[in-house]
Amino acid sequence: MRTVADVDVEDRRVLVRVDFNVPLEGGQVTDDTRIRAALPTLELLRERGARTVLVSHLGRPKDREPELSMRPAADRLAELTGADVTLAPGVVGPDVEAFAGNLQPGDVLMLENVRFEPGETANDPDFARGLAALADVYVNDAFGAAHRAHASTEAVAHEVDVAVAGLLLAREVETLTRLLESPQRPLVAVLGGAKVSDKIGVIDRFLQTADTILVGGAMCFPFLHALGHDTGNSLCADEDLEPARTALNAADRSDCRLELPSDLILGDRFAADARYRELDGLDVPAGWMGLDVGRRTVERYRAAIAGAGTVFWNGPMGAFELDPFAAGTRAIAEAVAEAPGATVVGGGDSAAALQRFGLADRVTHLSTGGGAALEFIEGRTLPGVEALR
Ligand code: ADP
Ligand code: MG
Repeated sequence: MRTVADVDVEDRRVLVRVDFNVPLEGGQVTDDTRIRAALPTLELLRERGARTVLVSHLGRPKDREPELSMRPAADRLAELTGADVTLAPGVVGPDVEAFAGNLQPGDVLMLENVRFEPGETANDPDFARGLAALADVYVNDAFGAAHRAHASTEAVAHEVDVAVAGLLLAREVETLTRLLESPQRPLVAVLGGAKVSDKIGVIDRFLQTADTILVGGAMCFPFLHALGHDTGNSLCADEDLEPARTALNAADRSDCRLELPSDLILGDRFAADARYRELDGLDVPAGWMGLDVGRRTVERYRAAIAGAGTVFWNGPMGAFELDPFAAGTRAIAEAVAEAPGATVVGGGDSAAALQRFGLADRVTHLSTGGGAALEFIEGRTLPGVEALR
């Protein structure tokens, strides 16, 4: 796909959609991973003498709440790059255009939270023209927002002469495309986390393209229930049973192996100080809930990951936020980090788990877009990517 590296940006004004939707506490950025992820594109633009205008959303403002200003993100970007980063007085309009007009090559202007404008989520073409008026070239580097058709991710691309991918977005799309179309085999997909119905499309796709799917986390209980096991108080929503049955049937007809846990760690409630015990088997007694995969499961899954040509991992193996139930997720995270094959990790909590265990830089690709990555794998078109074609 055509990227910012392929266009002449010298002296031109470049509007870059970034994903600076970062966590804040007391007006400070508490995790700047997303800002760092945009640095390759932003550094390239500065080196090549572009006048850069940045736009992002932050949270879900109902109005122009000052707590959701882009100020802390702009300040952090300035610290990380040493660039002067000016915060615009709004998103579009004559005042903002004046700021953009005054930019010198190498300068950076950060627009205010784009969701301060109702035209953003409405994908309003008038508002998109307001954004386009700020620049000559549009670059989308916000993979995490590419599954939404909003004015700054979709409509704006049609209002400028040149619309291209940023380096981060291009890398995300290329990595996931390779994973689906030409992976080193065997391709092993490790799927955990909470809701089967949210991830059923991903399971379907991997039943067609992967060699093995390893199921863990709360995700396993609808499957175990469908196979006739007792699930006790484990997280097992009624609405997830039918998708699990359908996936089990599809797995029977597929060349892909769908593997389920063979043992569990149980807790008497979802809490760090819960009573807990190992269960060598899968029938969860009344009063208990499965909160992690057991040791035999971990060994089996580890071996599959070690033998993989490519690993995709989404969703923790258990309630890893709670110490007694973190071992399964930790072991799988370590196995992924040590795997000789290419490793791709997506999902907010999976990324948080890798970070917590200090392994985030040990995978080939840590996706910045949880929802967007899953939709891409399902085979849905991402409006923000489509608009660049
Ligand atoms: P991701 O954000 O990586 O896509 P999810 O949001 O689907 O992952 O799932 C993460 C959540 O699933 C975590 O909060 C974790 O505590 C929870 N979880 C995982 N396994 C279990 C389990 N067996 N019972 C209850 N919750 C679980
Ligand atoms: Mg999550």
